[in-house]
Amino acid sequence: MTASTTLPDSVTLHGHIVPTTLFVGGQWRTTEETFAVDNPATGKEIAQVHTGSAQDALDALDAADRAQRSWRSVAPRDRAELFRRAHAALLARADEITTVMTLESGKPLAESRGEFALSADFFLWYAEQIAHLHGTYAPGSRGGYRIVTTHQPVGPSLLITPWNFPLLMIARKAGAALAAGCPVIVKSARETPLTCALFVQVLEESGFPAGVVNLIHTTSSSSVSEAVMADRRLRKVSFTGSTGVGSTLLRQAAPGIVNASMELGGDGPFLVLDDADVDLAVEQAIVCKFRNAGQACVAANRIIVHASVVEEFTTKFVAAARALKVGDGFDPKTEIGPIISRRQLDTVTRLVEQLREIDADLLTGGSAVESSGYFFEPTVFAVRDRTSAVCKQELFAPIATIYTVGSTAEAIEFANDTTYGLAAYVFTRDLSRAVTVSEHLDFGMVSVNRGIMADPAASFGGVKASGLGREGGHDAINEFLEPKYLAITVD
Ligand code: NAD
Repeated sequence: MTASTTLPDSVTLHGHIVPTTLFVGGQWRTTEETFAVDNPATGKEIAQVHTGSAQDALDALDAADRAQRSWRSVAPRDRAELFRRAHAALLARADEITTVMTLESGKPLAESRGEFALSADFFLWYAEQIAHLHGTYAPGSRGGYRIVTTHQPVGPSLLITPWNFPLLMIARKAGAALAAGCPVIVKSARETPLTCALFVQVLEESGFPAGVVNLIHTTSSSSVSEAVMADRRLRKVSFTGSTGVGSTLLRQAAPGIVNASMELGGDGPFLVLDDADVDLAVEQAIVCKFRNAGQACVAANRIIVHASVVEEFTTKFVAAARALKVGDGFDPKTEIGPIISRRQLDTVTRLVEQLREIDADLLTGGSAVESSGYFFEPTVFAVRDRTSAVCKQELFAPIATIYTVGSTAEAIEFANDTTYGLAAYVFTRDLSRAVTVSEHLDFGMVSVNRGIMADPAASFGGVKASGLGREGGHDAINEFLEPKYLAITVD
């Protein structure tokens, strides 16, 4: 393992030294301006981080462009070896990374550890795939020549990630890009740049060559992305975040025909059919809804329950929601951490006000918790209205909404009545029914009798307004590869 280059600036958090600068062309780089990163559990500043400009991002693109020829030529086994080293280096720094993740995102330490384990697993999985990337060989359809198809890396890639899973989002994306042979420019989320910085430092220390991984923190995401997207050397943008920003990036990608992958918002329906194991459905709905304080793209956004089991489900679900302990992520008893920011807490409060105004009953919660941090009570509504705007949007909050339906057909129709198409959930004891229902759901992913679905080997992604492309599985690496066909004349 090579040592990290000199850190020109850093912050010490719980005894761990964390870089606070950009990383461009193999060097940690300071800038003139900095921005504050807060701990959402206390509302207090934990670090000042250097903010990059459009020029810093263009310098990163320059470095990525220079690195691409040599990076794409690294032998598969050597590239896989770098991944294995990075995997080991990540594991060696588990305490440090999970501590910083909880500090800046607020999520309970147990959730940080779960996210960390999955992120490291992605790196191992990609390491195992690199040596298996191959093409095809066939005779020409009427003979006379041979058709050889290989895959080549798309080229320098801009990776933009959100704050809700500060390590997983970037490990999943960067892992796929680097496995394919693409150098990357990582644009961290403003709220959680420090976890991202530690991840990039792990890659640096594991021996990924200068220019192959670059990191930009910024308070001006749009000027950074506009500058990089307008430069012909950029060949790919891979984005995870809201549908609105994804759509802006697609417009920016259009003039240069920049290849784009989009992991966007969700409006996940959670179907509990009349033959469901209600206790299992309640247990999984609690995880699916309240994990990360509801700030997950695959969260259960509408819990749709058959009338014959709705009373039992609702009674048990409300009791379980009420029992969840809200608090600082470092308290081992905490099950729900804070909302990411004051601004987002205000949004959650407004959503509750809107739900109170429609045909819906508040069953528990409904208020922010008195604190200097940004806590909100786990909240449950039984909703009869299905047409108000608040019923048709991604809540992204610890607010559960339960809807009652009279039949499976009605459940499917309501589930599909959304512009989104990311994750859906079906709870039933009948496997053949689960298959039929899942075939009728217009979603990229359907989970049967499970409230969590991310896995390194699975193709993760959505349809409709939830995105384009997939992350995880072989599809993730293919997002960063382009087929190249060679016609070879044979005598
Ligand atoms: P966001 O779209 O506001 O921000 C995401 C990232 O884009 C951040 O790094 C932000 O700084 C950057 N950004 C914002 N405006 C930009 C611009 N004009 N140009 C370039 N970059 C810009 O989303 P958010 O609030 O951070 O995250 C929540 C959203 O992300 C939710 O809609 C959620 O569903 C979605 N999400 C989707 C997935 C998925 O895999 N489908 C995973 C996690 C989150």
